[in-house]
Amino acid sequence: MIKKENACVDCGLPCMGKNCPYRNITVLSCDICDNIVDELYEYKTQQLCNDCVTKEISKEIERDGDVENAEEKIEQELLFLGKIII
Ligand SMILES: [Zn+2]
Ligand SMILES: [Zn+2]
Repeated sequence: MIKKENACVDCGLPCMGKNCPYRNITVLSCDICDNIVDELYEYKTQQLCNDCVTKEISKEIERDGDVENAEEKIEQELLFLGKIII
């Protein structure tokens, strides 16, 4: 998901409050593992990091019982997924 994070750590006292440039940083976080990443893949209804989306796709391939060339299929599928990058 795309979320806003308060990344103000120590910008001196007093902090500029809502004008602090670090207060509302947009970050991308994976819906499954919660990791903050540079890019998210839109997979079905979720927004996932590279690791998680790869796992999800492999699960799907296993479910279909067609595990031959699984890696290639994953790569193919990743190309077609929407990406969110900040
Ligand atoms: Zn601040
Ligand atoms: Zn993840």
